[in-house]
Amino acid sequence: MSALDVSVQAQILNLMKDLQGKFGLTYIFISHNLSVVKHLCDRIGVIYLGNLVELAGKEELFKNMLHPYTQALISAIPIPDPSLEREKILLEGDVPTPINPPKGCPFATRCMYAAELCKRERPGLEDVAEAIAWPAIYTAAAGRR
Ligand code: SF4
Repeated sequence: MSALDVSVQAQILNLMKDLQGKFGLTYIFISHNLSVVKHLCDRIGVIYLGNLVELAGKEELFKNMLHPYTQALISAIPIPDPSLEREKILLEGDVPTPINPPKGCPFATRCMYAAELCKRERPGLEDVAEAIAWPAIYTAAAGRR
């Protein structure tokens, strides 16, 4: 989809939405473009290095993103209004190779909240309000809930 001209992209997305409404279709839509994902999807799973790190309904995810990778992705969405500004979260550090992933949290090499525990233990997903799932260690490391 990203290789297409923007106007063609919009036509295809609108066609997909029309077909979804008309026939009650379910799509699994994979993209780096979260503004397109927001337009098309009802429920969003965020994946980092092959790991599901957050799962939520669209409204909840954009209102209350919990995982630092989700926060960085959403902060990078361009705002089509030059008078508005959003603070971008620029991730530092290296992306680990998926062939030899780190022992602990796969995001620990780039996470601003990473603690020593994160490098040793791989977090599991935890249910929180509104069916959001997120890494348990993040709760302790970032002090947010
Ligand atoms: S487990 Fe640690 S390194 Fe991984 S996302 Fe949570 S706080 Fe960051």
